Amino acid sequence: MADPLRLELNDGHAIPQIGLGVWQAPEAAAAKAVEAALRAGYRHVDTAAMYGNEAGVGEGVRRSGVPREAVFVTTKIWNTDQGYDRALRALDQSLGRLAMDHVDLLLIHWPSPQRGLYLETWRALIAARAAGLARSIGVSNFDAPELDRIVGETGVSPVLNQIEVHPRFQQRRLRAVNLERGLRTEAWSPLGQGRLLADPAIGRLARKHGRTPAQVIIRWHIDSGLVAIPKSVHPGRIVENHDVFGFQLDADDMEAIAALDDPDGRVGPDPATARF
Ligand code: NAD
Repeated sequence: MADPLRLELNDGHAIPQIGLGVWQAPEAAAAKAVEAALRAGYRHVDTAAMYGNEAGVGEGVRRSGVPREAVFVTTKIWNTDQGYDRALRALDQSLGRLAMDHVDLLLIHWPSPQRGLYLETWRALIAARAAGLARSIGVSNFDAPELDRIVGETGVSPVLNQIEVHPRFQQRRLRAVNLERGLRTEAWSPLGQGRLLADPAIGRLARKHGRTPAQVIIRWHIDSGLVAIPKSVHPGRIVENHDVFGFQLDADDMEAIAALDDPDGRVGPDPATARF
């Protein structure tokens, strides 16, 4: 079954609410995972130049037999490729590795403010979109001042901000910042890198619904209006993580998950202090 849930973006395109993340999957494993995911009904894959597996992602899309135009492919400009010319060159190289003529979404991976280049990089993404090399453009790990600066200077809004979100780190403030500006929030590490799967409260909800902990968490993302990109390279888990359309969480369940939020719950770097 093809992914039935797509969220509209502020540029008129739409994004499937569940995508396959492929960080830390080497080329061959990424190709296999993408092929398995597309055969299981996924229509969205999240990669990045920094993951070193764009060629595998492109290979997986082609091997799946699903037409390119039915698949939503995201890649990202790495920090060392920031700047107008460098970013456009990096995109060209990403498209070469993917063996695709465009991506559906191109993101600035981190603002990396100490480089002072994210505004110029954003101008490059705007040019890439105008040239048809990226259908939609967005950012990752941005906070309000950076969002306001790129929109204020260019008048062009990102379609989304991809940030760390999961039940233990719910990012209510930054999600509200995105919402106020008309941006979707896309959740990276949506399963808390797997660490949340053994949480007793999640386990109770899994038993209540006859589902797995991963399915409960992914359903929480969907019911919260987020885009989520869980990663797995195991075919069984890939299928499991997409099979979340036959049940819903009720108000009590949502309240139980709301209570798991922890200001110290990050599993990844804090963009406010990251210096890479
Ligand atoms: P995740 O939260 O998706 O967790 C993945 C891990 O959870 C797997 O490695 C596996 O150990 C476990 N897992 C997955 N499905 C499972 C299942 N059904 N049952 C049991 N265990 C399961 O972690 P992630 O990979 O960090 O994040 C997902 C994606 O987000 C990445 O692959 C990448 O595409 C993206 N990402 C982006 C950024 C960014 O800066 N923009 C940062 C980190 C991740």
